[in-house]
Parts: sequence; structure tokens; C-alpha cells
Amino acid sequence: MAHEITMLGTGNAFLPNGRHHSFAIFDRKHIIDAPPTALISLRENGISINEISTIFITHLHGDHIFGLPFLLLERTYISDREFLHPLTIVAAPGARERIEHVCEIAYPGSLGKILSTITWNENTDGITEDGWSWTRFEVNHNDAVDPYGYSFHSRQGAKFVHSGDSGPCDTLYEQIAQTELAVIEMSIPEWVPSNEHHKPSDIQLLSENNPDVNFIITHTYIDCEDSKFPVITESQFPDHPENVYHAKDGYTILWNKKWIF
Ligand SMILES: [Zn+2]
Repeated sequence: MAHEITMLGTGNAFLPNGRHHSFAIFDRKHIIDAPPTALISLRENGISINEISTIFITHLHGDHIFGLPFLLLERTYISDREFLHPLTIVAAPGARERIEHVCEIAYPGSLGKILSTITWNENTDGITEDGWSWTRFEVNHNDAVDPYGYSFHSRQGAKFVHSGDSGPCDTLYEQIAQTELAVIEMSIPEWVPSNEHHKPSDIQLLSENNPDVNFIITHTYIDCEDSKFPVITESQFPDHPENVYHAKDGYTILWNKKWIF
């Protein structure tokens, strides 16, 4: 069986021109995070909201979870009125209460029914019904938002890692050393004084140190190259090694014995 990952959104919180918030789906049913632009990203890719069976939450910043009320509202009133499509949310302990609070603020009284049907999985590892084993690991980001990355391994042998939002750290880099594909954030330019995100020089070092791993850049600060509008922060892509791909929204990677770019 083949697999696929689609980068439904590739922008950071500030929405560079031509990008929705960073957002990925694999095998058209498992999503990683639910940003404010989740609904339009799914619509633009022809994915029905009721096809989503698992939501993996990396951390609790607004650009990663504030789309959840819209996805749950859509399922309740449009694509899953009978609540027939099971939905699992995988998130660290403590996330559930905060996410339910966000939903109640967004649509008071309207999301209680669907929230009561959700299966919450707070374990650090598990397996999806279609055979994806996953592990959640701590990363280097703002501790107030419980930051994690995920490592995935399919029954057929496909492997990939998602960084969530993270600066350079051993926990993430150990996972990347054991995988084939890393979806990794590059949120900030060199001049921003933070170690809680990756910069181009971090990606350069990481990709040179892991020449057998392919890197898909997401959560980027750089405008899409097709943009005709004045630059938000930056429009030039760094000159990275060949195993680094600067994805556009909608970019899909297939797996058939190996990842195909
Ligand atoms: Zn974040």
C-alpha cells in the first residue's frame, strides 16, 4: 500500500504571502494540528472534514489549535450530523481541558455533543487503526504551550518525523537521525534572537549532518515564490542542500517503498 503526506499549509503564525498556517495531512485522514486556516486548507484540497479520523496535537499555540472549533462545528452541522465518523484526538495530558475551553469560547453550547463523542488519547505512543505507530517526544519551544513532536512508522515501513514548533534540540535530532523524512519548521530569519525555532543556518547544519534524510520545510517566514504582493518578511529562499525541500501549500509527497518527491 502506498502512503501520502500533503502539506495543506506551510506558513508560520504571521501568514507569509501565498501560504496558510502550517498544517499537514497523511493518508487523507490523519491531520497534524488544526490551525485557524485548517478549514480552507482542507476545502482547497477537496478533503471532506468527515474523512479526518485522527488529529495529532503538537502544542497549544493559537496557530496550531484555533481551527479546531471550526472543524468540529463543520462536522456537527454539515459532514457528520449523525456523529457516525469516529474521531480521535492525540494530545498530551492537560491539552484536552484547554481545547474544550477554546471550543466553548468559540461556539458556546454548540460543540458539547461532538466533544462528548471524541476519543482522547493522552499516551506517549500508540497505533492508528490503519497501522501507523506513533511516538510523541518533547521539543524545545515555549513550555507554556506543552511542545512536542511526533515520529510515525507505518506497518508497510514508511517513516517520518514532524517537528511541531521547535528550536534545535537533542530529542528532535535523535528522532530525525532514525527516520527517512522530516517535516520541520523554519519559523524565523537569522536575525531573530530566539532558540525556540529553526533558522536557515540550523536547517543547513541539520541537513548536512543527516544527508540520508529528506527535509520538508514548513511553518516558514518566507513568502511563496508565486506572490505578487509586497514582501511580508522575506521572499528569498536560502540555498540549502538537495535533501531540503521548501514546500508550497498543497505539496504532496508519495511513499511507495520509499518517499518520492
Ligand atoms: Zn508555536
